[in-house]
Amino acid sequence: MSPYPKQCPQCKTYFPGVWKECNRCKVRLVNARAAHVMKWLKVICVLVTLWVLVAASTYCIQPAERQLYERAYACLKEGRYGDAQKQWRRAFARSPYVTGARSLVEEIKARLRKHT
Ligand SMILES: [Zn+2]
Repeated sequence: MSPYPKQCPQCKTYFPGVWKECNRCKVRLVNARAAHVMKWLKVICVLVTLWVLVAASTYCIQPAERQLYERAYACLKEGRYGDAQKQWRRAFARSPYVTGARSLVEEIKARLRKHT
């Protein structure tokens, strides 16, 4: 039996995608384990996509730090994960994301100080 039946066994409603349960008679269509695996696969997909976007964008907007990113990648390929992480951290610390977040934190701190 397929883990994702497309038709409800009770009312014979057809479901075009993956549905957890029939929305008419609330019969479970996907077994609990498959639903669990699907949920985590989705989370991992989103995280990987976000990571790739951040990595690609930092590479594009930091032409001065490209060498560091390239060195990190070279270390990663050679299996020197510690070195790769060091290079990547040095480059990422100068990225607009980090500097932006830092200035935001500073501003929040300054405002909090004013109010107390
Ligand atoms: Zn049904």
